[in-house]
Amino acid sequence: MTSIGVLALQGDVREHVFALERVGVDAPRVRRLAELEAVDGLIIPGGESTTIDKLLRAFGLFSPLRERIAGGMPVLGSCAGMIMLATDIIGGIHDQQSLAAIPMTVRRNAFGRQVDSAEVELTWQPDGSLMHATFIRAPWVEAWDESVEVLATATGPDGSPHPVAVRHGNALATSFHPEIHAPGAVPDDRVHRLLAELASRA
Ligand code: GLN
Repeated sequence: MTSIGVLALQGDVREHVFALERVGVDAPRVRRLAELEAVDGLIIPGGESTTIDKLLRAFGLFSPLRERIAGGMPVLGSCAGMIMLATDIIGGIHDQQSLAAIPMTVRRNAFGRQVDSAEVELTWQPDGSLMHATFIRAPWVEAWDESVEVLATATGPDGSPHPVAVRHGNALATSFHPEIHAPGAVPDDRVHRLLAELASRA
């Protein structure tokens, strides 16, 4: 069975595990090198990118993870995880590092502190369908290489559209939380399903 780990150092790990189980893959929590080496793909969850960065380094996972991603391991970063996958960060703290998996610049807390959290109807550009998305102190993509495919955009407080879902090879990143759905709503697992497809092919 395809195995997609969820990096379990900090953040909303459980919801990603549930989403992965719904799309039919094994979803172990990853905290150690041996656990990272055993998975076919990985999710870096939302949480706090500065903390995830520090803990990755403290657990000796930062370089091994960067190398596995550079070697083509499918990966999804949501929110703080998107920040971790960027090559460049605007609004990071001193010394904040990222895994540089996707050639893009992300702006932390881009939607503003007042709009801490919002639910937005997005157009999922690959097929033009709607996607209900939850944003929590979310980043957006401010600049990106032409090799990066934009999967969805959202309008910021500046009135302009900004990419909030992108793909670069086997790396996916969303500003929003695809693992979160309203209580009682049917979960929308398209992002997790796409990751599972990438991982089963890799
Ligand atoms: N603002 C957070 C950060 O910089 C991300 C928020 C989230 O993951 N929900 O890491």
